[in-house]
Amino acid sequence: MNYNAKQNRYENMKYNRCGSSGLMLPAMSLGLWHNFGDVDSYENSKEMVTTAFDLGITHFDLANNYGPPAGSAEKTFGRILKKELASYRDEMIISSKAGYEMWLGPYGNFGSRKSMMASLDQSLERTGLDYFDIFYSHRPDPDTPIEETMGALADIVKRGKALYVGISNYNAEETKEAVKVLKDLGVNPLIHQPSYSMFDRWIEDGLQDVLKDEGLGSIAYSPLAQGMLTSKYLKGIPKDSRADKENTFLEKSDITKEKLSQIQNLQDLAVSRNQSLAQMALAWVLRKDKVTSVIIGASKKEQIIENVKALENLEFSEKELEDINQILKR
Ligand code: NDP
Repeated sequence: MNYNAKQNRYENMKYNRCGSSGLMLPAMSLGLWHNFGDVDSYENSKEMVTTAFDLGITHFDLANNYGPPAGSAEKTFGRILKKELASYRDEMIISSKAGYEMWLGPYGNFGSRKSMMASLDQSLERTGLDYFDIFYSHRPDPDTPIEETMGALADIVKRGKALYVGISNYNAEETKEAVKVLKDLGVNPLIHQPSYSMFDRWIEDGLQDVLKDEGLGSIAYSPLAQGMLTSKYLKGIPKDSRADKENTFLEKSDITKEKLSQIQNLQDLAVSRNQSLAQMALAWVLRKDKVTSVIIGASKKEQIIENVKALENLEFSEKELEDINQILKR
């Protein structure tokens, strides 16, 4: 049976303005880095995307290399879109990126004009889209002039292949330069996509100020530190969790005794707020409008349902924020 989106899908999601642009993004977005590849169950991937959409998640984040194999998450998403969500395209914000290794040879990586343009065309073909809502430079390229990478992004907008552009993993200085070049070319960059979580606070050291000054929005990736900021690892490493799987960026050795002690203390604090640890960790990233949106990852729809409930309580008392800081220092 064909999917019909829930009528009440916009009732509980919060939508935030992305920087000084006209675009609103959902406070929670869904990322397709893991669990949407050819190695994963199509039915499960489909259920996660439709569950998210039913909860008001209108933004779906991709990249050329998501899978495995690289490229297959875009194909899976394209299939779901065509079969289930085609009539909802104008309710969706779909992003992709180029900049990490994608194909053999000197043009399948980083940020030359050649790589950016070819990668974008491949991503459009895999997803079956005519355009992306947001297209990103996935990381800075130390060997390509920033004018070349940003020039490619500006032309992508001017040719109608993306409505907006963004940058990911650029530090504060690199961001300032990239924004200047884009603005000089007549294109306002929309957004920055950095990592940000209680375990990874680098953006507080300068980048957030630059984004505010320049009018860019921000969307935080790995807000649960890839699952560590949940209760799942407190009693060992569950089978099929990200840390248990081969070829992921979360190693069993990342879950140290010190981390587990912090996680337990954070879990106790979350319980006192009537939240799960995952919900508190997401609420913390979204506190005081620090970011426009968080991109969650998921391996099953129940995680998405749990995580969206974080929006029911985004308030922290000064005491709670201080307690969290103390726990993170230990
Ligand atoms: P998270 O930190 O949200 O981690 C997601 C993982 O945590 C899930 O796959 C699941 O892992 C576990 N999890 C989620 N919710 C729960 C829950 N309620 N209870 C228990 N476990 C839970 O984000 P990701 O690291 O997945 O990153 C999110 C997105 O950010 C990506 O999909 C991608 O779009 C983007 N990203 C961008 C990058 C960039 O360079 N621009 C880099 C990395 C990510 P499990 O499999 O163990 O169940």
